[in-house]
Amino acid sequence: MDELDRSARVLVAGSGGLVGSAVVRALESAGFTDVVGARSAQVDLRDADAAREFVTATAPAVVVDAAARVGGIAANNARPVEFLHDNLRIQANLLDAAHAADTGRVLFLGSSCIYPKFAEQPIREDSLLTGPLEATNDAYAVAKIAGIMGVQSYRREYGRRWISAMPTNLYGPGDNFDLESSHVLPALIRKFHEAARDGSEQVVVWGTGTPRREFLHVDDLAAACVHLLEAYDDPAPINVGTGQDVTIAELASAVARTVGFTGEIVYDTSRPDGTPRKVLDVSKIEATGWKPTIGLAEGLASTYRWYLDNIVVEAGT
Ligand code: GDP
Repeated sequence: MDELDRSARVLVAGSGGLVGSAVVRALESAGFTDVVGARSAQVDLRDADAAREFVTATAPAVVVDAAARVGGIAANNARPVEFLHDNLRIQANLLDAAHAADTGRVLFLGSSCIYPKFAEQPIREDSLLTGPLEATNDAYAVAKIAGIMGVQSYRREYGRRWISAMPTNLYGPGDNFDLESSHVLPALIRKFHEAARDGSEQVVVWGTGTPRREFLHVDDLAAACVHLLEAYDDPAPINVGTGQDVTIAELASAVARTVGFTGEIVYDTSRPDGTPRKVLDVSKIEATGWKPTIGLAEGLASTYRWYLDNIVVEAGT
C-alpha cells in the first residue's frame, strides 16, 4: 500500500479523549502537518447536521474515528441506552459525513468487547458474530458491530477504502479516573494512590479478581492506527493488542507496587466480573509489521506519573 501524503488533512474525531489525543500525537510525530481535531465540546457528532457541517468544512483526506461514548463495566451496565444510541449516532453521522466530503481513508475504532463472551481465546477476528455477547456491555458492543458494518457497507456500495480496528482494553495519559465510570486500570491507580496517601489498610477491588484482561498503552494503539492507515485495506476488522493478559488480581498487585501501597487487597464480589477472559489474537496485525513497544510495568509507571502530574496536582490533593 501507499504511504500517506504527510501534508494531507487528517481529521481525528474525539481528539479530546484518551484515544483521540494519542492519535493526534502519533500523527504529528509521524510527520503529518495538517492534523485537525474534533472534540465533543466543539462539535456534537450525535447531531447529523452538525457532523456533516463540520466534516464538510474540514474536508479531510483521512478521518480517524475515535469519537465514542465509552466507560467501564459499571457505566456500561447502568446506561445501555446512551452507550447504544450515542455510539450509533456518532459513527453513522461521521461515516455519512466523511462520504459526503469524499474522504478517501477512514479508520473506525471499535473494541474487543464486540466478540462473543465465550469466544475461543486468544480471540481471532473471525469469531465476530459467532455467539452471544457479554451482558454488561452488549449495548456498546452492538453499536460497535454496527460501525464495522457501516465501514463494510461503504466499501461494498461505494468502493471506499475504509477500515476498522478493534483495540483491546486501553490505558494511558488522558484516561478517565472517575471511580464509577472508568475502566479498571485508572480506577485502581486512583484507589491505590489514595489508600497509600491516606494510610488506609485496605483497597477494595470489584469482582473476584479472576477475570483476565489484556492492556494496551494508548500510545501503542495510536502508532498502530498510523501504521494501519498505510498498511491495511480490507473489510474485516483487525485486532490491536499485545496478545498477553493478566488477572485483575495480578493487575491490582502491579498497581499496588507502582504506587507503593503495602496494605491488603479485598474483593467486592457484589460487583460484576464481566467477561471471564478477553485476550486478542494479534497474529494478523503482527503480519503487517506492527507490534507494541510499551510493557505493562513501564506503562503503569508512566501513567501513574501522568496521574500525579495532571489529576492530583489539579485537584490539589
Ligand atoms: P471490562 O473489560 O469491559 O469488563 O471493563 P472494566 O475495565 O471496567 O473492568 C474489567 C474488570 O475489572 C472487571 O472484572 C471489573 O469487575 C474489574 N474491576 C475491579 N476493580 C474495578 C474498579 O475499581 N473499576 C472497574 N471499572 N473495574 C474493576
